Amino acid sequence: MELYDVVIIGAGPAGMTAGIYAQRAGLKAVILEGHFPGGKLANTAEVGNWPGIPEIGGAELATKMYEHCSALEIELKFDAATGLEDHGNYKTVHTNSGEINTKTVIIASGTRERKLNIPGEDTYASRGISYCAVCDGALFRGEKTIVIGGGNSAYEEADYMTRFASDVTLVLRRDVPRADQINVDAVARNPKVNVVYNYTPTAFLGNDDHLTGVEFAHSKTGEKRIIEGRVVFPMVGLLANTDFVGELPILNDEKFIITGTDMSTSIPGIYAAGDVRDTVLRQIVTAASDGSIAAQSIVKYLQTLES
Ligand code: NAP
Repeated sequence: MELYDVVIIGAGPAGMTAGIYAQRAGLKAVILEGHFPGGKLANTAEVGNWPGIPEIGGAELATKMYEHCSALEIELKFDAATGLEDHGNYKTVHTNSGEINTKTVIIASGTRERKLNIPGEDTYASRGISYCAVCDGALFRGEKTIVIGGGNSAYEEADYMTRFASDVTLVLRRDVPRADQINVDAVARNPKVNVVYNYTPTAFLGNDDHLTGVEFAHSKTGEKRIIEGRVVFPMVGLLANTDFVGELPILNDEKFIITGTDMSTSIPGIYAAGDVRDTVLRQIVTAASDGSIAAQSIVKYLQTLES
């Protein structure tokens, strides 16, 4: 049976950093990626907090990480994990195209956008609802834009969309943002963004062809209000990409992975890194840090298996 030292699930900053550390430690490693290398980073407009580089495009930084992996000849398979089995001293990762056996696993599968689950969400998917301004923003040049949410994602999306939109309305369900002050200040300085507080989205509205606006209810009084827009970005939080973990007892109630400071889970040989972890900070730099720690922890773990 072919047995890897480590299978890394996900080629975002966490997974690619884990791959770099694993390869440099001489482990037989493979990174699995179901979409494209970089994860959320690849869809980020500008990165201003990667030490040593004051500003760089997200796609460019992701490409540099990918090139670094390629230069080290790290094996990368474009295949998605669909299941994970623990057999004690080895694990089986099920994928879209088969299965891979490995002594250890690093889950670095990241997150996806949470849906609002309100009327019109399916109808106007791809017809005015988008989750990525970097990907879709230019399609809505000159159009009225709505962004929903009060976190960093929403504030960054609102600021970025002013490159294309006639104007942007950023709608929070409370009167207090969650976003970092630097993002709140950027939006406050941007004359094309209008911030509306205390309105919760209740329906996506549109005609037979496309979205025309969003209906909101005042979070305290319930008063209805319609805000017109040709495109809406609902940025209302993240869900962990852990469906393939199944019943393995390594998740918290919200399906994020619980780890120790060495990135180990409660199952020996299974580690996690990056946004998919139950963690206090989700940044590129923390994901990269997690990836390095997970790989180094595995080096030590494999030594215990051999001894
Ligand atoms: P988030 O921080 O969890 O914020 C989600 C926002 O959506 C909150 O303002 C929340 O409102 C709102 N919300 C949730 N459900 C809603 C609903 N049904 N209707 C209306 N609003 C709703 O999510 P995020 O902005 O995607 O960020 C996720 C993580 O990634 C965070 O740790 C964030 O710091 C990190 N991140 C960092 C950066 C950066 O540092 N540059 C960029 C992007 C993301 P309440 O506040 O009322 O709950």
